[in-house]
Amino acid sequence: MFHGDDAVTESALPPPPPSLPTWDLSDLYNGVDDPRLDADIATCSQRANDFEARFKGSICADEVTSAHLLAALAEYEALLRDRYKPEAFASLLFSTDTRDPARGALLQKTREFGSSVATHLVFFDIEIGEIPAATYERLIEAAELSHYRHYLDHQRRLAAHNLSEAEEKILVETSTTRGRAFARLATEINGRTTFEIELGGTTEEKTQSEVLSLLFDADRRIREKAAAAITRSLRNNAHTCTFIYNTLLHEKDVLDRLRGYESPEASRHLNNELDGGIVDFVSEVCVANYDVVSDYYRLKGSLLGIDDLTHYDRYAPLAGGETRIDFDRARQMVVNSFSGFSSPLGEMANSFFENRWIDAALADGKRGGAYCAGVTPDHHPYIFMNYTGQPRDVMTLAHELGHGVHDILARSNHLLDYHPVLPLAETASTFAEMLLFDRLLGELDSDRERLALLCSKIEDTFATVFRQIAMFRFEQLAHRARRERGELTTEKLNELWQHSMQEMFGDSLKLGDEHACWWLYIPHIVDAPFYVYAYAFGELLVLALYARYQEEDEPFVERYTQLLSAGGSQTPVELTSRLGIDISDREFWQGGCDLIRARVAEAVSLATAL
Ligand SMILES: [Zn+2]
Repeated sequence: MFHGDDAVTESALPPPPPSLPTWDLSDLYNGVDDPRLDADIATCSQRANDFEARFKGSICADEVTSAHLLAALAEYEALLRDRYKPEAFASLLFSTDTRDPARGALLQKTREFGSSVATHLVFFDIEIGEIPAATYERLIEAAELSHYRHYLDHQRRLAAHNLSEAEEKILVETSTTRGRAFARLATEINGRTTFEIELGGTTEEKTQSEVLSLLFDADRRIREKAAAAITRSLRNNAHTCTFIYNTLLHEKDVLDRLRGYESPEASRHLNNELDGGIVDFVSEVCVANYDVVSDYYRLKGSLLGIDDLTHYDRYAPLAGGETRIDFDRARQMVVNSFSGFSSPLGEMANSFFENRWIDAALADGKRGGAYCAGVTPDHHPYIFMNYTGQPRDVMTLAHELGHGVHDILARSNHLLDYHPVLPLAETASTFAEMLLFDRLLGELDSDRERLALLCSKIEDTFATVFRQIAMFRFEQLAHRARRERGELTTEKLNELWQHSMQEMFGDSLKLGDEHACWWLYIPHIVDAPFYVYAYAFGELLVLALYARYQEEDEPFVERYTQLLSAGGSQTPVELTSRLGIDISDREFWQGGCDLIRARVAEAVSLATAL
């Protein structure tokens, strides 16, 4: 499982700092040509065949015993473990040099191997879902299965929405020609779209990431031109992309009806093991706190000296963000911030540096962004990033080490319960950023630098919390509108998007008509409906947890460590109740928003003092 944290970066890379670490992958394999790769792939493929031959048809059977189910689960888990290692190695290796054809070919080969193994395993979860209720109730009480109870119960809840085997088979076999094909078409259209912009007297064609990065330019005219170029190209795609989105909305409506999901959001909530009522609370609390967004953008307008702030000013940089921090200093600060919380966690964080589990160097062909790759519970995680020395890179290091420490703590869980569900997946990483943030702020020399860092943190938090909720609300409106009125026009979708986004800014920033079609390139709404709320849920949860830590100090540390150690072995409600927290309590979520408010107030007072 890779926790990706890609972000648009605004500046060209400075010359590579000296001694940035690269990782050592030799405890996986020795390179593209390691003969153990082919040997492991062959052994695992055979094992998958054997698994199917041995267990298919025997799980969904009246006479199935707990010992038989246990044997199948243990073998299933072992198979997944064997399957992940070659692909994890290939992905890691590819990340550090995407131009090397041998690495690309290995990645493709391990992916094909992964899918071919998966085809022998699909029957297993389906059969778990089909075990007759009375048989399942008898089985699940067996002590030997208690270890797998959370996994089995969750599979059963998902399976309650399965159609008949014959129908499911048709859906699986046609899956790449239905919605998924349209989603892929949207990705390809967006990937191929170019953006024409006139800069310094010449017209240039930019890719999407290039033109988006111009929105971070200090020159307002460049930001305005970039925004106009984006709008022009998106409008050109509007007919096709609106058709695609309508098709996806309709397909989801049909499948939800057939599968018995009561609302457009229900299947996502079930996957996240969350009650929809709790998600509604999070959304409502965010909307009730939208005024903090207006407060901030009014401040930003005055700092930029712009009184008619509009959509292309949102990411304008503030003076003071040019500080550089060398990697050794960053290591020290991040490890100290973990140690200050708990010395065992500090030692875990330090082990990533000691053992060369981090690749932070800058190199040609290395992909952008950052991630933590937790391979399997019996293998340590790896951290990937590009360290350019900006304060936000120090935050990224803390973020990825948070994931890394989480993965190490969770390794006592079996593979099927190793990773928490999506809304909790960013807990440790976001918490680690919180631990580092004040320390980092203290490192800076001037109030101007502190204000720039604080504002960039506030903007990141807004992007994770309020913007995701605004997108979630757009999706809610779009899915319902399609169900109630049939096919939607681009203009109608534009109106829903603009309404959901403008609501967040209040009167502090006027988005303008040009921004109305910008829903057209958002990948999540096409690829994974309602995925976005998990970001807001996770970030607000951590803000509120951090407030608890500040109140309780020591007693919190132990309970928080236990929460991380539990991995994905329980639902979010069960896990957080271990911390004495009730996530169905509205006040709890307001606590998270109060911390954001406090940061904005701090920025206002720093700005006043300048
Ligand atoms: Zn992350």
